[in-house]
Amino acid sequence: MSVSPKKISHIGVAVRNLEEAIPWYRDQLGLEFEGIEVVETEKVRVAFFRIGESRIELLEPTSADSTMAKYLEKRGEGIHHIALEVEDLPARLQSLKENGIRLIHEHPKPGAHQMNIAFLHPKSTGGVLLELCEPNSKNLG
Ligand code: ZN
Repeated sequence: MSVSPKKISHIGVAVRNLEEAIPWYRDQLGLEFEGIEVVETEKVRVAFFRIGESRIELLEPTSADSTMAKYLEKRGEGIHHIALEVEDLPARLQSLKENGIRLIHEHPKPGAHQMNIAFLHPKSTGGVLLELCEPNSKNLG
């Protein structure tokens, strides 16, 4: 049994410097820039651009020992992950785990934009770093 995820929440793009990356998305592509948020748990600064019901999120490491800094060192800038919005994230994680899917986070943790998030391991997802997320308040669209 698997309920379909609701939508693509966002696409995460790794960048070295937000201020250098933002003008391309805002001024050349004309995407709606929503602002910047620091996500302490992930040691990243995130710039949000709205596109339809989804977002593009630019991710800049805030410290050299962060996962994002290591990713940039190894792989360079570019698409980092795809996030799908789901309902009942804890139950979905449990079910994936039972099916032998490797999880980076077995339990949801706080992410940007009042979302609870969990990453799945790319070894279990055909090489795509997948994030599942769920708004942590029912008031939020
Ligand atoms: Zn994300």
